[in-house]
Formats: sequence, C-alpha cells, structure tokens
Amino acid sequence: MVKFCLQCKNAFWGGQFCPKCDGQVELLDMADEANRKYLPELNVDVRPKYYARSSMLLTCFGFIMALPLGAFLFIRGLEKTQSFPLSIAFGVGTVVLLAWGSWFLSQKLFDKQMEGVEAEDKEPQLD
Ligand SMILES: [Zn+2]
Repeated sequence: MVKFCLQCKNAFWGGQFCPKCDGQVELLDMADEANRKYLPELNVDVRPKYYARSSMLLTCFGFIMALPLGAFLFIRGLEKTQSFPLSIAFGVGTVVLLAWGSWFLSQKLFDKQMEGVEAEDKEPQLD
C-alpha cells in the first residue's frame, strides 16, 4: 500500500505516521478515493520509475537470452559446417548483437515513454 505525506510530499510503503517529518503527521493512502484530490499536489512524478523498470526488464531479458542463443548457434554451426572460426564468429556475434540490441532498444523505449513526462512542474522520481 503506497502512502504519502502532505507536508513533505514523500511517498512511503505503508505506515501510519511520516518517518521524515517532525511530530506525528498522518500518512494518507494513495488508493483511497477521498485522498485522490491531493495527488496533483504531490511534487513527484513516479512514471519514470515504471518506465525505467520496463526498460530494465527488456535489457535483462536480452542479456540473459543472448548467451544460450549464441551457444546454441555455435554448437549447431560447428555441427553443420565443421568450421570453428565461422561458428565462433556467429556465436559471439549473436551474443554481442542481442545484448547490445536489447540495451539500445530499451534506451529508445525509455526515451519515448519519457516524452510525456514534463520535468518543469514535477520532479521526476528517478531513484
Ligand atoms: Zn512527511
């Protein structure tokens, strides 16, 4: 459950009182319909966090899949062509291309998603 503090504009995972503010400032539940009206007042934008997460997943998937696919192509290539340099070139090439490609694509995806985030009136939460 995500809660936020109206005083310091921070968001927290649960809890009753804000751990950052002095005194006992009550935290408000973000999912509560009655508290929705305060959301535009919050000075943070959590969208970059989710966009970064999807890009991270894509990069991770590319890096994880690159090695088995490269190894598979190397073994199959060695089997079919009996040429070690050709097979190793294909295997390593696949690993490099897939890993770099997924990293490049995720950067593009993140930049495209971030187009809608205006940094002037809200501070993007990037940590
Ligand atoms: Zn607070």
